[in-house]
Amino acid sequence: MADCIFCKIIAGEIPAAKVYEDELVFAFLDIGPINFGHTLVIPKEHHESSATIPETTAGRMFRVGARIGIALKRKFEWDAFNLHLADGTAAGQVVMHAHLHVIPRGVEDGFHWNWRQLRYEEGKAAEIARELSMRVAADLN
Ligand code: AMP
Ligand code: ZN
Repeated sequence: MADCIFCKIIAGEIPAAKVYEDELVFAFLDIGPINFGHTLVIPKEHHESSATIPETTAGRMFRVGARIGIALKRKFEWDAFNLHLADGTAAGQVVMHAHLHVIPRGVEDGFHWNWRQLRYEEGKAAEIARELSMRVAADLN
């Protein structure tokens, strides 16, 4: 897409620190890393949402992301990694070309996810799961 910053990176029109490239995906360092080595894996084809990425490409993104996470551990001695994808503005997506974050993590890296955990009222979880499963089945079939 013409005015997409990540499409421009793939095309070489904007510089980026490339980590990996194949026929389906491109990976490069995030310009504002949570920890050094924080990498973004993107489909070469422009997709705003993760939901429209073809299955083979989406699978490749996940596989490459996980292998980059392992490489970050082996080469730079990180303890672990997070894979993160924000789909939609309310979820924190800023660049509207789908991207998988690979974030190297250390036991004492000082970064904390603010991950809250609510509680379901009696029967509510079963109700939501039932309605959601019907919708997912309808959409996937
Ligand atoms: P998100 O909030 O999930 O949309 O993440 C967008 C990410 O893209 C942010 O972490 C930015 O630091 C990163 N980013 C934006 N522009 C560039 C760029 N030109 N090169 C590398 N990373 C970028
Ligand atoms: Zn794009």
